[in-house]
Formats: sequence, C-alpha cells, structure tokens
Amino acid sequence: MSSGKRSMAFVDFDNIAIPAKRFHSLNYIDFNKFRNILLRGYRGVGCTVYLPHKMGNLLPVIQKSGLNVTVVSPGKSVDGRLIFDLLINAYHDKFDVAIIAGGDRDYRPVIEEVKSMGKEVIVASFSRNLAHAIRSVADDIIDLDTVTADIAAQIYTYTCQNPECGKSFKTPRRLNRSKALCPDCYKESKSKS
Ligand SMILES: [Zn+2]
Repeated sequence: MSSGKRSMAFVDFDNIAIPAKRFHSLNYIDFNKFRNILLRGYRGVGCTVYLPHKMGNLLPVIQKSGLNVTVVSPGKSVDGRLIFDLLINAYHDKFDVAIIAGGDRDYRPVIEEVKSMGKEVIVASFSRNLAHAIRSVADDIIDLDTVTADIAAQIYTYTCQNPECGKSFKTPRRLNRSKALCPDCYKESKSKS
C-alpha cells in the first residue's frame, strides 16, 4: 500500500548507530535497507544522513547506498544542521511527511513547529533511545527494535594479507581477498605511502 504523500527522511547518525550497537550488537547498518524502511508506504523524495565529522570514513559506504550524506564539521552540532534542513524543506513545501530517525528530546520544538505548518512528522527510533517528550508529539513512531534484522548490513570475513599479521577480521565492505588488510594494517599502509 503506497500513499502519494511525499516523504523526506532525516537520519541523525549517532542517534541511530550508537543504540544499534549498544542494544542490538548491530555494528553495521545497511543504509539502503534503512532508507526503504523509513520511506515505506510513501513517495520518497529524499533521505539524508547527518554524519559527525569523526565518522567521515563512512561517507563513501553510505553514498554508495544512494543516500545523501551531510558531514557536519568538527565542533558543529549535528542536530542543529538536521533541524535547519528540516525547517527549510518544510518552509519550501518539499515534503508532506518528515521522518526523523533519532529519538533525542532536542527534536521536540522542531517537530511541533513543522506540524504547525501542516506537515506530518514520524519519528524512527530504538525504543530505549526514544525520549518521552518525542513520543507524545510525533504523529507516528517507527519502532526500530522490530526491524534490526532487516537493516543489518551483510558482513564479510577476511584474513589480513599482511604476513606479519594474518588475523581474521570482519567488515561490511567487499574486498579483494588477495589484497585484504585489517583496519590496523590498512591504516599503517596508508600512513607509509
Ligand atoms: Zn593486519
């Protein structure tokens, strides 16, 4: 069942990735699947992941999934940037339904503001990370606890090809087996070159 309503998703990376790891041992999210769950049932018109600068190494992985990524500069607020984009897009009538992935209480004022502009706001969050202040204002809640298996990235296991290392490691990236280096050896090889 699909509605003609235009939906736009805003993903607060830390607010999703940290509880995913803590509560569900979910270390790698497949952002393509994640977007499909967020926009399910609507006409998706955009999905942006707000990534703190320190996680910038994930930029190519997430972009490869076809999502927009905004990397927030060091010292700048991720939720501040997300809130700004949410308001601008609401103001210019770019969506009918906003989906915020992240249950932080700081989003309450912007949710109320966007709703007052005649928009619907849905919040996607892990239940233990969802502030009561948010639960009471959102038009609907997507409980991410129920979809963890659906958003888990496929994980590949490799053996590090540095002969002095040789340890086994896991990654969501598909590597060339004969050239695979564990994250430590990869870092070292990069710093040498
Ligand atoms: Zn290694």
